[in-house]
Amino acid sequence: MQLPTHVLVAVFTQYLITKFLTFPTCVEICLIILLCGFSHFFIDALGKITYHPPIRELGNFWLYWHIFLYAFGFFLIFLYFQVYWLGILSGLLVDIWDWIILRNYAKYTSQPDWGKKYYLHPIADKIRGIFFSRFPNLNHSKVGILPEIILYIGWLILYLSTS
Ligand SMILES: [Zn+2]
Repeated sequence: MQLPTHVLVAVFTQYLITKFLTFPTCVEICLIILLCGFSHFFIDALGKITYHPPIRELGNFWLYWHIFLYAFGFFLIFLYFQVYWLGILSGLLVDIWDWIILRNYAKYTSQPDWGKKYYLHPIADKIRGIFFSRFPNLNHSKVGILPEIILYIGWLILYLSTS
């Protein structure tokens, strides 16, 4: 799934852990890293029911949707980072590792296949196969933006009604 979805789930997870559990701080920190980190795999596995073509599609729809996703995603990071930085970083760690560190190191060394065995996203593919194999694949379907649009509107209503 997309950046804002990972950020919102990570923030919500850290919020639940710190608000409702009364563990010592070090246990809470471990729980935040583990649960927010692991949330990434489940969210990406569920990404099957969202519009998420693996490579850029021609046309304005892909372009405007991705401009919105990055703008909204970085807005959410800006909004929540001061309090929820640990959850957010943990929730994005899998993408940072696969798409920023490994991919760029492979580019840097001019070995496109370098590091592929260390990619973490195959774990999400396994979870998708186990739990979501009956779900429709909307990765190339424009209607696949609806699940995330509904989530973002839900967040907006919650945010406006609590602040
Ligand atoms: Zn990912």
